[in-house]
Amino acid sequence: MPSFAASPRHPLFRPLLALAAALLAPALATAAEPSARLVKEATELRDRALAEGNAWQHAWSLTTEVGPRPAGSAADRAAVAWALANLAELGFDDIRPQPVEVTAWERGTAEVRITAPFPQPLVATALGRSVGTPEAGIEAPVVRFESLAELEAAKPEQVRGRIVFIDERMERARDGSGYGPAVQKRSRGPSVAAERGAVALVIRSVGTSNDRVAHTGGLRYAEGIPRIPAFAVSNPDADLIGGQFASGEEVRLYLYSSARMLGPARSANIIADIRGAEKPDEIVIMGAHLDSWDLGTGAQDNATGVAILMETARFIAMMPGRPARTVRLVLYANEERGLDGSRTYTAAAMESEARHVVGIEADGGAGVIYRFDSGVAEHAFPVIEAMQGVLEPLGIEAGDNSAIGGADLSTLRERGMPVLSLRHDATEYFDLHHTANDTLATVDPEALKQAVAAYAAVVWIAANVEGDFGEFPKN
Ligand SMILES: [Zn+2]
Repeated sequence: MPSFAASPRHPLFRPLLALAAALLAPALATAAEPSARLVKEATELRDRALAEGNAWQHAWSLTTEVGPRPAGSAADRAAVAWALANLAELGFDDIRPQPVEVTAWERGTAEVRITAPFPQPLVATALGRSVGTPEAGIEAPVVRFESLAELEAAKPEQVRGRIVFIDERMERARDGSGYGPAVQKRSRGPSVAAERGAVALVIRSVGTSNDRVAHTGGLRYAEGIPRIPAFAVSNPDADLIGGQFASGEEVRLYLYSSARMLGPARSANIIADIRGAEKPDEIVIMGAHLDSWDLGTGAQDNATGVAILMETARFIAMMPGRPARTVRLVLYANEERGLDGSRTYTAAAMESEARHVVGIEADGGAGVIYRFDSGVAEHAFPVIEAMQGVLEPLGIEAGDNSAIGGADLSTLRERGMPVLSLRHDATEYFDLHHTANDTLATVDPEALKQAVAAYAAVVWIAANVEGDFGEFPKN
């Protein structure tokens, strides 16, 4: 059971608000503040969602009836059909698919083993978008680096003809802040190694688990540099490779992978609207990606994000009247291997009359929400403070105005859309992220109820408050 105990406000937040209030004309600040009636509605919505929310059912359905759904696969198309059928039950005014072209990729099979000095098999997986090895595999000496930075500083003669092993470990943190630095070796590592003449790359998984599970995830080959096969080994298996170096002898690995790119495939974003009663062209967007990796069932990444926002929409659609602004749910295609859905949606949105007033994304796992951050103009701080007041009893602390939102909303944010961010406790999320252990067994239904209560309250206020959120802050 999660704890919903109240927690102290963020110490930086109050002075910021005071400063903002002092700088702004009183009329503007007053105009932005939500009415007592709106706060009361959001509070009642919060309590109803907390008591009756059943996001777990949607997550169960998606992981059971579709399961793993990598972009461009038959299961990805099944997920699109699943979304169209299941959203139809929730009370939206309009639901439509938006075609997205994605590139499909096949994982195939992988084998990694130590051949010298002390031969043994390892648990490994190909990184997403990796090319495969030749049919006979690759057998070569290994050069070990503590970090991507150390590899970047290496001379080509240290690397040429070798398998590069990057042994950098990801740090565990409640805010998931270990991920950003650790993921660099996965996304950029293959080309950095290839540029220096490496024949393949093996990384310590971008993950915090000491279980023997490897974490996959997308790589990005740089233009004009040879594409080499890339693998991740589990944390204990990385320890095994590192341990071999203690012998002082040459360490060698055998690598095999039949991974390959498959070319273009059809997928779709799903766009579902609860139409605004007064300002239908002003959109409050809720985003979550529908695709997943293939090793688990894509439960916390991202069936639960999809489920939380579906349930949020269901409660909003049950309100006695429509919100002033349009509440739009977008289930995005192919977040994991390239943000294709995000780019397609935003390109079309730029052509339309509609204005995206503010956005919120659910893609941080299924942990309890512990903090609320914003990335909005200062004149909207009174709205953020009112939202925080409604979130406080859920055990959610006030954050600051440094939110940047999630990956799918990044293309709208780059064009100035402000963002709101409900942060899930990610202490344990990166134990299972992108692994075979990302299944519904790891999900606490009570935490999902708290999340729906929080999203519903925040989105209801955003969709009804008089003032707007300005532009995403530039600094
Ligand atoms: Zn995700």
